[in-house]
Amino acid sequence: LNPGKEADYTCKIIILGDKGVGKTCVIQRFTDNVFSFNQMPTITMDIKSRLLYVNGKLCKLKIWDTAGQERFRSITSNYYRGSHGVIVVYDITDKKSFEHVTRWMDNFDQLVKDDVIRLLIGNKSDLKKERMVKEHQGQKLAKEKRMLFGETSAKENINIEHVFMKLVKEIIDKN
Ligand code: GDP
Ligand code: MG
Repeated sequence: LNPGKEADYTCKIIILGDKGVGKTCVIQRFTDNVFSFNQMPTITMDIKSRLLYVNGKLCKLKIWDTAGQERFRSITSNYYRGSHGVIVVYDITDKKSFEHVTRWMDNFDQLVKDDVIRLLIGNKSDLKKERMVKEHQGQKLAKEKRMLFGETSAKENINIEHVFMKLVKEIIDKN
């Protein structure tokens, strides 16, 4: 992989969901393969990127992390503009964060009329004993909302790569 080479595609992906569900950790696991227990709250808008090959093409993913404005109405259409993929994350040990997925998607749909590929992530799958949301509940919601779905653990590095690949493949197929 030659990092100086222009990518064949550049994709903008945005990530939504309640504070504390692990959005920043999921992104960091995917882009840098690290995990932090004391992840600082995201203060400024952060864009992380990663190059990867999909179907023989080099793709540059730019992933936009929310800047502590993790309330539905505080996210502006500027943030959403031009996105190819949207990820909504909930925490499988936090029922409220799961119930809020619908509001995150409704807010997104109000501001964005384009066809954007959607992915629902149930994160912290390593915390099995504290689970409050069953996997099939996540699957069902994703189906209703026409979203791809997967449970992940940023901590244990479970399924992160796989869900991102599903999203990117779908984005490339549809564009
Ligand atoms: P954000 O507010 O959605 O960006 O959440 P953060 O990425 O800052 O993570 C919030 C907290 O959850 C931090 O203490 C992380 O260490 C923790 N966390 C994130 N992902 C996981 C995970 O997969 N498993 C566990 N057990 N903890 C996680
Ligand atoms: Mg964060």
